[in-house]
Amino acid sequence: MNDDIYDEMVRERGREYFLKNMVKYCVKRGNTLHGTVYGSDKYITKVDLKTKTGICTCPYQYNCKHAYALLESYKSGKYVDGDELFLNFSKLDKLEILKIFESIIEKHNLWDEFITEDKTLLDTAKNMLELTKIEKKNVFTFTSFLRNQFLKNAGNEELLLIIPDVIKYIQERKKLEEILFLIVDELFERGKTDKDTLKKLIELSRKYRELWMVKDNILDYEYFELLEY
Ligand SMILES: [Zn+2]
Repeated sequence: MNDDIYDEMVRERGREYFLKNMVKYCVKRGNTLHGTVYGSDKYITKVDLKTKTGICTCPYQYNCKHAYALLESYKSGKYVDGDELFLNFSKLDKLEILKIFESIIEKHNLWDEFITEDKTLLDTAKNMLELTKIEKKNVFTFTSFLRNQFLKNAGNEELLLIIPDVIKYIQERKKLEEILFLIVDELFERGKTDKDTLKKLIELSRKYRELWMVKDNILDYEYFELLEY
């Protein structure tokens, strides 16, 4: 076994760590060892069995005593076969797996792994709008989100899609009318290069009387050809 990538001193300390039961667990998954090793803190350590290279969360980071302790644990046969562990999971029924899954997420507070990842700007905007119903000050929060993020980064389609939602809350929150102006203005700015989006906006304005400003904008921008649309 090619251990020379670890200094002698590190190997000695690592061995000592292993003998003093500082390795909380060692799991072999494919060609990788995964483990938690105690030291002045609790460190998460990974060792590639092909190269013996270790990565660790300790200040040393690479090929440290914790990684070596993990290797020692493996060499002494003190490890869990991770592949077998997963194989056993595959034998469980869906509900049992779901229960395990739930308890892991709850225990380790892993919600954001499942929530923020693919939340779109539109979803965020819709959620924030929903909050304006609860408290008036949320209208200001939404307005600044709209100005600083949404108007800049949302696609044309997203801008169009948020309109019916804004209209839905206007009755309760008059202030949202300003927001409608902002969105319509932005669409008209973009309309300089994309008339199809404007046509869709005009279609929307036939459906919602709150979009009366669309017609004014057509005149202001002198898009007379759209008047007949
Ligand atoms: Zn370490």
